[in-house]
Amino acid sequence: VADPGLDCIAGGSAPLGTAEIVAVGSELLTAFRLDTNSLFLTGRLNGLGIEVRRKTVVGDDRAGIRDALEGALARTDLVILTGGLGPTDDDLTREVVAEALGLALEEDATVTEGIRRRFAARQLVMPENNRRQAMVPRGAVVLENVNGTAPGLLIERGRKMILLLPGPPGELQPMADALVAGPLGSRAGRRRLARRVLRVTGRTESHVEQAVQPIYSRWRAWHPPIETTILAAPGQIELHLTAGAEDEIAAGGVLEVATAELAAVLGADLFSTDGRTLEEVVGNLCRARGLSLAVGESCTGGLVASRLTDVPGSSAFFIFGVVAYSNESKTAALGVPAETIQLHGAVSKPVAVALAEGARRRGRADVGVGVTGIAGPGGGSAHKPVGTVVIAVAGPANGLSVRSYSFPGGRSQVKHQASQGALDLVRRALLDSDDAIAPARVPHAHAPSRHDPPE
Ligand code: AMP
Ligand code: MG
Repeated sequence: VADPGLDCIAGGSAPLGTAEIVAVGSELLTAFRLDTNSLFLTGRLNGLGIEVRRKTVVGDDRAGIRDALEGALARTDLVILTGGLGPTDDDLTREVVAEALGLALEEDATVTEGIRRRFAARQLVMPENNRRQAMVPRGAVVLENVNGTAPGLLIERGRKMILLLPGPPGELQPMADALVAGPLGSRAGRRRLARRVLRVTGRTESHVEQAVQPIYSRWRAWHPPIETTILAAPGQIELHLTAGAEDEIAAGGVLEVATAELAAVLGADLFSTDGRTLEEVVGNLCRARGLSLAVGESCTGGLVASRLTDVPGSSAFFIFGVVAYSNESKTAALGVPAETIQLHGAVSKPVAVALAEGARRRGRADVGVGVTGIAGPGGGSAHKPVGTVVIAVAGPANGLSVRSYSFPGGRSQVKHQASQGALDLVRRALLDSDDAIAPARVPHAHAPSRHDPPE
């Protein structure tokens, strides 16, 4: 069913430079389902140097599908339609495409047999309506579906290519990968798009822009030129760099040089140049140094622990996370003195430090983290408004950092930014501990940025 067909259409015609994606499915036009297939496909196409120019979402509707197909075909080299290949009456993609291209639909007995076998393997008899999925437009190449009944279809039209892929991501993705390794890869030409995602924390978007604009504005004159996009999210700024070059090595090489230029001006605020998340970076730092981590959180409700345990292999460094929400639990679970809470309030530097030290002590960890704050919407005061968060990191060794923040936004944004602040403070503490070991540096007590005394 699959590979021999793929080989015979590979190569030959002009390279595919641009693509459009048409996602078919009425559910994708509701508030409940998102078209994620196009994101996956765009990543794979960009990897081949094929640029996605437009994406369309249409319902299970003949006129809508036909209109989207004809528009896309007029504009672009490659059109990928996803979804609508199922066995039911509302699955129209196959029929509409065949009709629009003037191709007769014929049942492919091999495909029918394959579907029949899939059912038989589950002790089931194939319903007759599944034969719809074996209907193949004349001349189309059948693409094997390893995870489902609907095969994909590849149709060549002059120098253009049309692909019909199944909607379920688990079926579409292996099929797309087989296409990338096969006919798409060989029609893609040599040109490659390289992308790099840089992540920055501890600066606002405009501060990042101010620092990097003079640098990236020069890149447009480079050969190949680099396109830069700045994306701001709460607690994190991303810089996306893209370069298109005649081959992978040239595109990747130019981004390597650009990344080094940005690293020089952003310093320690640049925490990732390879797409890693903040929690992954922290996890890697802990593992590389053989250090363990325990967390005592209040306003983040376990978010810091949750993010750390999103990192595969986190059991190598993560000891525990305690959500000590009430004052009593801060004392009972982490040994925060009741008098400290009484005297300074639950959201204060002494309490954050006591949470961090308590987590560290009770977890026998190298590093303890404490987070306390007011996520809102209630609970704020003139002195400590909503968004006030205090974070402390105890360790490694004798290190102690504590910082107070004022985060903007609603409850979930405050929680997210607080978790980002906590992970970042741990990261900086781990980096600083390297400096402390370096012979030229004075020990931590003399580093003012690390030793912000309790208020
Ligand atoms: P279909 O091939 O149209 O029968 O799609 C089957 C299922 O695949 C749908 O119910 C969705 O859950 C999923 N699906 C379809 N299109 C997409 C898409 N563009 N992105 C993500 N999931 C999709
Ligand atoms: Mg559908």
